[in-house]
Amino acid sequence: MTQNLKTFFIRTYGCQMNELDSEIMAGQLIKKGLTPVYDEEKADLIIFNTCSIRDLAERKVMGKLGIMGRGGKKNVVIGVTGCMAMAKKNALLEKFPHLDFVIGTNNITDLSHVIDEVIETKQQILKTDNQFEENLDYLATQRLNKVKAHVSIIRGCNKFCTYCIVPYTRGNEISRPPDSIVEECRSLVDRGYKEITLLGQNVNSYGKDQPEWNCLFHDLLYRLNAIQGLERIRFMTSHPVDITIELMHAIRDLPSICEFVHFPMQAGSNPILKKMHRIYTIEEYFEKVAMLREIVPNVSLGTDIIVGFPTETDAQFEETYEAMKKIRFSLAFIFAYSPRKGTPAKRWKDDVPESVKEERLQRLLDLQTQITNAELQQMLGQSFEVLVEKFNKDGRLLKGRTRCWKKIIFEGPESCIGTLQQIRVHSFSHQTMLGTLA
Ligand code: SAM
Ligand code: SF4
Repeated sequence: MTQNLKTFFIRTYGCQMNELDSEIMAGQLIKKGLTPVYDEEKADLIIFNTCSIRDLAERKVMGKLGIMGRGGKKNVVIGVTGCMAMAKKNALLEKFPHLDFVIGTNNITDLSHVIDEVIETKQQILKTDNQFEENLDYLATQRLNKVKAHVSIIRGCNKFCTYCIVPYTRGNEISRPPDSIVEECRSLVDRGYKEITLLGQNVNSYGKDQPEWNCLFHDLLYRLNAIQGLERIRFMTSHPVDITIELMHAIRDLPSICEFVHFPMQAGSNPILKKMHRIYTIEEYFEKVAMLREIVPNVSLGTDIIVGFPTETDAQFEETYEAMKKIRFSLAFIFAYSPRKGTPAKRWKDDVPESVKEERLQRLLDLQTQITNAELQQMLGQSFEVLVEKFNKDGRLLKGRTRCWKKIIFEGPESCIGTLQQIRVHSFSHQTMLGTLA
């Protein structure tokens, strides 16, 4: 095994929380003197930062680890971090003898020590605490994007939806002290960042676990809005139950808060919502949508939906279809139910055939495409404020997003990157708008 690690490579699977954790780990490794490389073959240390949310995400990593073990142990240190580390723990080390360490979601702060221990002892190391200790060096985070950044404000989840593995892989909700968040955001703005997305499984539960702070999610938004030079604040994901009037007022009143709320509906049928333990009825969800639209008239809404949850009948699926038709979300992530070991739903028969799940998924995808296209059609001819992020994949046009998360590409000078521009939209293709500098 390489005694002197010089280079590292991190492959990230799953959500934005994982992407941010990878950036935080990369920061720690750079502080330790290692250099990032973007070709796995050139790395002395390879980390797989994994996701367990659906079976497919886990299978990808298991396949990759299996391939890496062919032909015995190579001269490279290999580690698994993230949700799979928590879900599988020692079983991973047993199955893959060429794996050197497994670090859980609550232990990324231990990365440097674990690597030293692996090199010193040449033993496999497992570190998976149940509780997160708030002692990360956020300021060292290695960020590839120079215009917008993710900032973690709360970890874990206490909601225990019956299908979801997150409360078991990420533990209880633990809010990060507001001063630490404000300090990190200030430092990002000082370094030229214009947009910050606040991250958490349920951002709007922020502060509930620490009543003595007197700082709930909307209070935090007021503090962040006061940072001079911070043009845009986004947040995700919100739980419908924790969307308060105070939060709606903050979105309406604070200029830097973008008018986009991603708050998953998951299903449109009450018996299914109850079985999912979503703790709201579809009527209560509709009510939140109506209130948000009344208080913030230009708000855009995003959602997550699961089709084929155990016992979901055709009629119950139609209720989800009708709810989506009624609400007309701007963005929807639609998933087929995937049973997860250790969750309550895993005990129920996965009784909706895969072909039916696929058919329901496709119907919702088609509906969402129609809704999004109609929305984009209405935007033609109008101008929107766009934060210019970088060149598009073609390397010629610039790319940015509106406050409501619509992607726009247009022709302009490189000097526009990192600035806000008014862009007039003239057409769209595959959900991307094309425009010109207004
Ligand atoms: N905390 C967020 C919330 O509740 O809205 C989202 C967390 S989860 C990482 C993202 C999405 O994955 C969920 O909103 C849900 O739609 C989907 N998901 C979670 N568990 C799933 C499962 N077992 N099968 C299919 N989709 C699942
Ligand atoms: Fe999972 Fe539900 Fe928590 Fe979201 S709220 S992370 S879906 S348990």
